[in-house]
Amino acid sequence: MKTETCRVLIVDDMPAVRAIVRDMLMELGFRHFQEADDGESAWRVLQDTAEKEHLRPHLVVSDWLMPGMDGLELVSSVRKLPATQGLPFLMITSQSDREHWLRAEEAGVSGFVVKPFDPQQLKEQLLRVLSSSI
Ligand SMILES: [Mg+2]
Repeated sequence: MKTETCRVLIVDDMPAVRAIVRDMLMELGFRHFQEADDGESAWRVLQDTAEKEHLRPHLVVSDWLMPGMDGLELVSSVRKLPATQGLPFLMITSQSDREHWLRAEEAGVSGFVVKPFDPQQLKEQLLRVLSSSI
C-alpha cells in the first residue's frame, strides 16, 4: 500500500497529540487522515465505513488511555468484526513494560509505539505493520 493513498484513522483524546502524529505521518508521505477523540467515536467511524471501500481507513494509530472506550477495548472490537478483523492497528502508549505489551498483543494490536517517540520509531513500526497486513 502506498503511503499517499493510505487512509489513517488517528485516535487520541488529546488534540495536540493527534496533531503531532498527523504531522509525523505527513512527513512520512501520508496524506489522508480521519480523527477520533476516543474509542467510541473511532469505532463508530470504523463501523460506518466498513462496507465503503472508498472511505474506510487502512490503518489505525490509536492511543491506549482515553476516557470511555480505551485503545485496548477498541482493538478488541476491531478484531471481532469480520469487516475490520485484519485492519492494521498501531497502539501508542506511555507504558513500556512487558505486561502492557502482552496485554496489547493479546487484544490484537499489530504494533506498539512507546511515548515519547520520534518520527523514525513511528516509521519503523508503520512499515512493519503495513507490510505484514498485505
Ligand atoms: Mg490519552
